[in-house]
Amino acid sequence: MWINVIQTPDNIKIVSHHPTIETALVCQRFGHLDHVGVDFNVKVGTNVYAVLDGVVSQAVDNVRVYGRYMTITHSDGYMSLYAHLSAFKVKKGAVVKSGDIIALSGGDPGDNIDGDGWSTAAHLHWEVRVPDHLDNNLYNIDPIKYLAAFYTKDTLPNWIKIYLNEE
Ligand SMILES: [Zn+2]
Repeated sequence: MWINVIQTPDNIKIVSHHPTIETALVCQRFGHLDHVGVDFNVKVGTNVYAVLDGVVSQAVDNVRVYGRYMTITHSDGYMSLYAHLSAFKVKKGAVVKSGDIIALSGGDPGDNIDGDGWSTAAHLHWEVRVPDHLDNNLYNIDPIKYLAAFYTKDTLPNWIKIYLNEE
C-alpha cells in the first residue's frame, strides 16, 4: 500500500509541527505485521526533521534492530523516534525546534554506510510514543494519527485522509 506524502510550505505555517519527511511514500503503515511505526520510502541522505520542539534524548550509533537511531522527547512527554539513519545532524542533549534538520536517512544495506540495523532497503522508520499516566511507560501510537491531530477537518492534508481511510 503506497500513499504519496506531500506537505506544502503553507501547511507548515498553519500548524506547530513540521513534517518529519517532506515528500515520500508511506511504504509500510503502523500496525501491519506488528509494525510499531510508519515507514517512509526515501533515498539515503534525505533530510529528517524534528516533528516538534524538544530535546534529543537518545542518539545511538548502531544497534541490532534500529541501527543508528535518535529519539526526541517533546514537552508534552511524547517521544518521536527516527531509525536506520545514515548520519546525525545534532547531538544527544541538543534542544531542537520543529523543522530543524536532525539527521539524514539511511537503511540501505547495499551501501557502505553503517547504521542500517535490520533495514532491508533505504527508508525512514518513524515512531511516536505516548506516556501512560498509570505506569509511566511509553506506548507506540500510529504516527500518522498523531500528525492528524495538528490539523482541523478543513486543513487535514489529503494524504492523511487517504491513510486514515484505508484502515
Ligand atoms: Zn519500520
